[in-house]
Amino acid sequence: MYDVKTKLKEVLTTLPADVTLAAVSKFHPKEYLMAAYEEGQRVFAESQVQELRQKQSELPDDIEWHFIGHLQTNKVKYIAPYISLIHSVDSLRLLKEIDRQAERCDRTIDVLLELHVAQEETKSGMTASEMRDLLSSDEFRNLNHVAVRGLMTMASFVDDEEQIRKEFMQAKDVFNELKRDFFANEDSFSIRSYGMSGDYQIAMECGSNMVRIGTTIFGPRVY
Ligand SMILES: *Cc1c(COP(=O)(O)O)cnc(C)c1O
Repeated sequence: MYDVKTKLKEVLTTLPADVTLAAVSKFHPKEYLMAAYEEGQRVFAESQVQELRQKQSELPDDIEWHFIGHLQTNKVKYIAPYISLIHSVDSLRLLKEIDRQAERCDRTIDVLLELHVAQEETKSGMTASEMRDLLSSDEFRNLNHVAVRGLMTMASFVDDEEQIRKEFMQAKDVFNELKRDFFANEDSFSIRSYGMSGDYQIAMECGSNMVRIGTTIFGPRVY
């Protein structure tokens, strides 16, 4: 078996205390998650609803599950009872459905808005101006069961470090501007989820305080 415990410990030594590690466990068997759990890891991130449901039903109750993949509105209901953070909100329509399902569960669900900064058109997420439209809308103001806690972003998948840095700095600026204009009095708007295995060092230099690391901890994914 891949040495998850050693890899996890190595990653943790590279993170300052104020950076949260979301261990990206998608496509890995539950034994791998349990190895990390035994080392004290409690935050795990998955990208598919079906896989998350399966793991959530089999693994310990004190795990904080994060959702990082594309979320279809018709699947929100399956994860609404327990999901602790949804990183990938890319439309008002999705946010409204999360709010509706959260209300049915008598809870508030924490979410991040996904910002599109990468060059690739294929990457999902909203532009800064789409976020502004969403946050200023009456429909958004009427949602009482979602809490927008910050932003998530993915940089371009390139070797060019300067390009990656530029994109994370752009995310940093957008975060600061939205904070100033929409969340000035809300300390809870504080999460900057930037950085994966290949670029989390750069992301942290650009103000990330939540990194989503899969491959470096669990090894390559077998699809
Ligand atoms: C899979 C995934 C990650 C983790 O990527 P690694 O390169 O394995 O660390 C992080 N964020 C998102 C949104 C992902 O889909």
